[in-house]
This record gives sequence, C-alpha cells and structure tokens, in this order.
Amino acid sequence: MGTTVSSVSTAFGSRVSIEQVEEGSDLAPRFDASGLLTVVTTDAESGDVMMVGVMNAEALARTIATREAHYWSRSRQCLWRKGATSGLVQHVLEMRIDDDQDAIWLRVHTAGTGANCHVGYRSCFYRRVDLTAEEGIPSSSAALLFCETHKIFDPAVVYGDAPNPTRL
Ligand SMILES: [Zn+2]
Repeated sequence: MGTTVSSVSTAFGSRVSIEQVEEGSDLAPRFDASGLLTVVTTDAESGDVMMVGVMNAEALARTIATREAHYWSRSRQCLWRKGATSGLVQHVLEMRIDDDQDAIWLRVHTAGTGANCHVGYRSCFYRRVDLTAEEGIPSSSAALLFCETHKIFDPAVVYGDAPNPTRL
C-alpha cells in the first residue's frame, strides 16, 4: 500500500513579501538554518497531539505528493517515511501551515493499531509533568505521570534490533 514516488521536486515558492507570506495563497515555507520546519501531528479524529517532528524540503514534498507523512530524522540524519518499518503509516487528511510558514500541522489517520510512538504508545505525549505537587518545588524533583496506561505494541517485536532513535 502507498504511493511510491521515486523523485520529487523540492522547489517551493520564493518569499517576496510579508503580505505574500502571511496573506497570500503561495506555499513559500521558511526552512531554518538546518533546512528544517517544525511539524505538529494530531489525530484527525480525536484532535490529540500524536508527535512533534521536523521536515526538510524533501520530506515536505514527499508528504504532499503521497499524502503520507514523511519526516527528517535528526538522530539518524535521514529521510523517514513514517510507518516504513512498523506499518503505522500516517495518512494525511489535512496539512496546514502557520502564519510565517515555518511550522506545519498535519491532521492524520494512522494505519493499523493507531499507535504513533516508537516506544509503543498511541501518542508520543504519553506522560505529563505532575503539576499537582506543591508550587515552588525545584524542577529537579518534578515527576512524570503516565497518561497512557499500556503500550499498544511491543517495540522489540516491531523493530527488532533496529537502533532506537532516542538520543541521550
Ligand atoms: Zn514517540
């Protein structure tokens, strides 16, 4: 399943004026010094935030061409088609861009079990910082509480010996 696109044009509109960028209909993204855009991905049904990632020009172009989310992996330094290994492909129902065109919002439907996180959870945001403790506590004693109580899949089964992308 999925469209195979061997090569894509990574040329986007040039940015000529504030009015064009903010009020116009040209897609003219501003990549940062590393050539990246920030991407927020939410579940199209629930609205929950699933992950935050980055795209380079090729990832953006491939996402537009295939309607499947592609990202740039900073840890592995490579283009990353989400779900290539796990099968948990993110089908893009809507792609929005922000006012100054340096951030993308993807609203997706995730294939299979609907998990999005390589740790095995539905969302990468499966923990919250405990804000119920006394105010004024040192941040070094802040604790994380789990919002998701169980993993949807076992990463060891899905990824085997593949390197874990989390950096220490
Ligand atoms: Zn994750």
